[in-house]
Amino acid sequence: MEQYDVIIIGGGPAGYTAALYTARAGLTTLVLEKMFPGGQMTETTQIDNYPGMPEGIDGITLGMQMQAGAARFGAVTRNEEVVSVELNGTEKTVKTTEKEYRAKVVIVATGASHRPLGVDKEKELTGKGVAYCAACDGMFYKGKTVAVVGGGNSAVADALLLSRIAKKVYLIHRRDTFRATKIYQQPLEQAENIEILRNNVVRQLLFGDKLTGAELENVKTGEKTLLELDGLFISVGRSPATDLFAGQLELDEAGYIVADESTRTNIPGVFAVGDVRTKAVRQIITAAGDGAAAAWYAEEYLMKTGVDKE
Ligand SMILES: Cc1cc2nc3c(=O)[nH]c(=O)nc-3n(C[C@H](O)[C@H](O)[C@H](O)COP(=O)(O)OP(=O)(O)OC[C@H]3O[C@@H](n4cnc5c(N)ncnc54)[C@H](O)[C@@H]3O)c2cc1C
Repeated sequence: MEQYDVIIIGGGPAGYTAALYTARAGLTTLVLEKMFPGGQMTETTQIDNYPGMPEGIDGITLGMQMQAGAARFGAVTRNEEVVSVELNGTEKTVKTTEKEYRAKVVIVATGASHRPLGVDKEKELTGKGVAYCAACDGMFYKGKTVAVVGGGNSAVADALLLSRIAKKVYLIHRRDTFRATKIYQQPLEQAENIEILRNNVVRQLLFGDKLTGAELENVKTGEKTLLELDGLFISVGRSPATDLFAGQLELDEAGYIVADESTRTNIPGVFAVGDVRTKAVRQIITAAGDGAAAAWYAEEYLMKTGVDKE
């Protein structure tokens, strides 16, 4: 069985920053990533708020550069999905679709992903009119009619972004009032091609070989409305990728791993970094900051327990 000092689950900005720090500190480091380096960053073509990039950068390039930066100090990446973990004790076991690995330290950096709406045929129609990322897929709907579902900041930001591309944008929200911050109110009111449908939920998707519309129901009056649509953007929040850790790591009610800025979890030698942990601001820079903190506390753990001298 392959043995490492540190195994990092997830190759987003949190995971690769942790890998850069642990590998640079001389710890043997394995990153297990089921998809591409960069995580959620790969869903956006323009990142403007990561410092040191005066022109901004696309997420795929930044992800690849983060991986290369960690590899420069010897961090190994395997494109494998982790399917189970055994985190208690000084020897942690991480099982992937391919193999089983052992490590003294595990850093969980599995991030988060979009939450589905939960409506019938949503999965089948994803990429065929149903989308989750306005910044990524908005351009496919130039001059078309789309709807955004949700009531938080990202739903309103998505509606505003799409209003500059699409002919018409419906913003469907199940409540009366939006949770979005005030800075969005004025542009929302001023956008002439956005129509807000309050107290409405999507009951059904309408489709042929791709999405053609949606049936809405007003939750107050019961009135049903059919909307003809080319695209439906679902923006009802994100959920952390923590199913693997339930029963071992302490999770909050929303499923995030409970960890403070030290990134320590309830299990010694296990750290949680980036979007997957309980925190207020989920951004690339804060994910990277967590990665650095985890490496720091992982080294401290290894020194204190003496497991680095085994
Ligand atoms: C469309 C979009 C645009 C954004 N734009 C910005 C922006 O401009 N600026 C900004 O600061 N932030 C932005 N963000 C937020 C930012 O991308 C996230 O905060 C950040 O990527 C979180 O990093 P992370 O490393 O914690 O997790 P993630 O980026 O979510 O990475 C987690 C990784 O873990 C992998 N993984 C999960 N489970 C497993 C498993 N079982 N086995 C193996 N691998 C696994 C996933 O494949 C993924 O690659 C954006 C997000 C999105 C979706």
